[in-house]
Amino acid sequence: MINFSSIAYVLASVLFILGIKKLSHPKTARDGNFIAAFGMLIAIVATLISYGQIDFKLIIIGMIIGAIIGATFAIKVEMTQMPQMVAIFNGFGGGASALVAAAEFLNSSTITTFTMSTIIISIFIGTLTLTGSFIAFGKLQGFISGQPIVFPGQQVLNAILAIALLVAGFFVVETSGEMNFFFVVLAISAILGVTLTIPIGGADMPVVISLLNSYSGIAAAATGFVLMNNGLIISGALVGASGLILTNIMCKGMNRSLANVIFGAVGLEQESSGSGTEKQISIKSYSTEEAAMIFDAAEKVIVVPGYGLAVAQAQHAVREVAEFLEKKGKTVLYAIHPVAGRMPGHMNVLLAEANIPYDQLKDLEEVNPEFEDCDVALVLGANDVVNPAARHDTSSPIYGMPILDVDKSRTVIINKRTMNTGFAGIQNELFGFDNSIMVFGDAKDMLQQLLKDLKEL
Ligand code: NDP
Repeated sequence: MINFSSIAYVLASVLFILGIKKLSHPKTARDGNFIAAFGMLIAIVATLISYGQIDFKLIIIGMIIGAIIGATFAIKVEMTQMPQMVAIFNGFGGGASALVAAAEFLNSSTITTFTMSTIIISIFIGTLTLTGSFIAFGKLQGFISGQPIVFPGQQVLNAILAIALLVAGFFVVETSGEMNFFFVVLAISAILGVTLTIPIGGADMPVVISLLNSYSGIAAAATGFVLMNNGLIISGALVGASGLILTNIMCKGMNRSLANVIFGAVGLEQESSGSGTEKQISIKSYSTEEAAMIFDAAEKVIVVPGYGLAVAQAQHAVREVAEFLEKKGKTVLYAIHPVAGRMPGHMNVLLAEANIPYDQLKDLEEVNPEFEDCDVALVLGANDVVNPAARHDTSSPIYGMPILDVDKSRTVIINKRTMNTGFAGIQNELFGFDNSIMVFGDAKDMLQQLLKDLKEL
C-alpha cells in the first residue's frame, strides 16, 4: 500500500531544500521563503491526517493564534531587531521539541532504550536552547547586561553540570524512566542554557543565536526519532546543518574560532583594555555642503553601509543620493562586509528593500581592490568593519578580522552621530587619518541634506 504521509514528507523536504537554495540570493529569497513555508504546510497537513482521530478544533485554534503572533512579529519587527526575534523563535522551537518529547515520556508505558535515549537528547538540547535563547534575547534587547557575565570557576561549574547531566540521563535510560532522574535532566539542561550563554558578550550574540538555531534543529530531529516521524527528522536536520553553516560563516567573517566566541568572554576584555590607554586622535569635521563639493569632483564613489544605516533606515536616502551622482556620470558601488550590521545578509536585504540594483552590491573580496582607484569611500554608520587596526594591531579584539580597505581611497567620508565606538567597543584609528573626513549626524538626515546641497551646486 502507498504510504501517503511518506510521499508528502519527501515532497515537503524537496520544497525545503529548493526554498533554502533560493534564499541564497536576494532576488529569489522571497520565493524561497514562500516555497519552504508551503513545504511546511504540506508536512503539517500530512502529519495531522496520518494521526487520524484527533481534535481538530484545538489544532485549528492553535494554528490561528500562532499565525497571528508570527505575522504580527514579522510585520512589526525592525531589521535591527531581527536577531532578537530569531532568538525568541529558536527558543520556542527548542521548547516545543522538549515538550513533545516530555509528553511522549509521560504518556507511554513502555519505551524502548533507543526511544528513551532520543527523549533525553531532545529534552536536553530543547531545554538548553529555550533558556539560552531567552538569555540571548534579554542581552540584545537590553533587559540584561550585554557585557559577558563571568565568575571564578565558571568553566568548572559547567563541566560538573555536564557530567551530572550525563549521569542523570544514563540513569533515566537504565531505570526505564525514573521520574526523579528525568527532572534532574530537565533542571540541569535549563541551568546549562543560562550558564553557557551569560559569559558571551552582546557583540557575539548573533553568532550564538545562529548556533542555538542549529541546536533547535537538532532537538527537532531528536524528537523526530522519538515520534519516528521522517518529516521532523529531515526538517530538523536541515535547520541543524544550516545553523552550523551560518555560524561558521559569521566566525570566519570575524576571523574568530567558535571556541573563542563561546568561551572567550570577548566584550569583557575590550572594556578593561579600552579604559585609559586609548590614543587621542584628531579629526576633521565637515558640513554636508563641504562634503557635496568633494562628491562633485569625484568620479568613483563606493558606499559602505553599516549598522548605523540600518538604525537610521537610510536605505532609500542613500539610493537617492547614489542615483543623483550616477546621473552626473559618476560610478557608484556598494561594499558589503559579511558581518556589517547585526546578521549576515543584513545589508543586502536592507539595500534590496530600497531597490538598489544587485549588480552594484560587491562582496568584500570583490570590492577591496576597487578602493585603490576610488575617489570617495562614503562610510555610513559602519565602524568595526572599516577599522584598519584589524590589519596590524595584534592587541585589538578585532585583529585578523577581514575589513573593507576604505583607507586606501583618495578621500574617506565617514558619517556617524558621535565619536562613540561601534559594537566591538573600540576606537577607530581611521577617523584620524589624513584622508578621512567626518560628517556628523543621523545617516538619513545627513543624506537628505547632502542631496539638497548636491542639487544646489
Ligand atoms: P558597528 O557596530 O561597528 O558601528 C555602527 C556605527 O553606527 C556606530 O559607530 C554608531 O556610531 C553608528 N550609528 C548608530 N546609529 C546611527 C545613525 N542613526 N546614523 C549614523 N550612524 C549611526 O557596525 P558595523 O556594521 O561596522 O560592524 C558590525 C559589528 O557587529 C562588528 O563588530 C561585527 O563583528 C558585529 N557582529 C556582526 C554580525 C553579523 O552577522 N553581521 C554578527 C555578530 C557580530 P554613533 O553612535 O556615533 O552614531
